[in-house]
Amino acid sequence: MGFRMKNTLVSLGLAGILMFSPVTSTFSQAQPTQAVSLEQKVSKTFPYKPVKDIENFRQYSDDILEIVAGKMNIKLNENIPKPTIVTEDEITLDEFNRRVSNYMIEHGFEPVYLNGMCPMYFEKENQILLLNSSTLHSLAHEIVHYFQVQYRHEDAANDPYDALEKEAIYVQRWFEKEHMKQTENTR
Ligand SMILES: [Zn+2]
Repeated sequence: MGFRMKNTLVSLGLAGILMFSPVTSTFSQAQPTQAVSLEQKVSKTFPYKPVKDIENFRQYSDDILEIVAGKMNIKLNENIPKPTIVTEDEITLDEFNRRVSNYMIEHGFEPVYLNGMCPMYFEKENQILLLNSSTLHSLAHEIVHYFQVQYRHEDAANDPYDALEKEAIYVQRWFEKEHMKQTENTR
């Protein structure tokens, strides 16, 4: 997700104050590479439902992280912490806006107050926010932002051609097409 302000896409890799506890540890840290063939990985599909309707959706986060890393040609580095994930039930709107505004201010923009949350990667907290209605391809999108910031050290606040957001959308669409299974419920 990103905001367009003054012609600059501020892809909200976001700042803020780490104010709530690590409710949701998520990605297990630094596992040795597992002996799974590329074919097995590529054929892996994920449920196509809102995360609130998936039992323990975080069980998929490591797999999605690896798949997105592969698509981006990124080699996972165990010294770089994986992101945690929260859903909108685990963060207040005020906290959301505090993080967004801190990020805006740090990058020379006016603070904002949004009436609702949107999926986002908060770079200071190294945390991904999903809505209850988000699907797993949305998680893949935010993981792209995580890699852009943590692995490539890209600056979302200085991205005049929206390249970072475009890349996230591209990988998200690819993930949806290749790795998610449509069911009657979702169409
Ligand atoms: Zn985005």
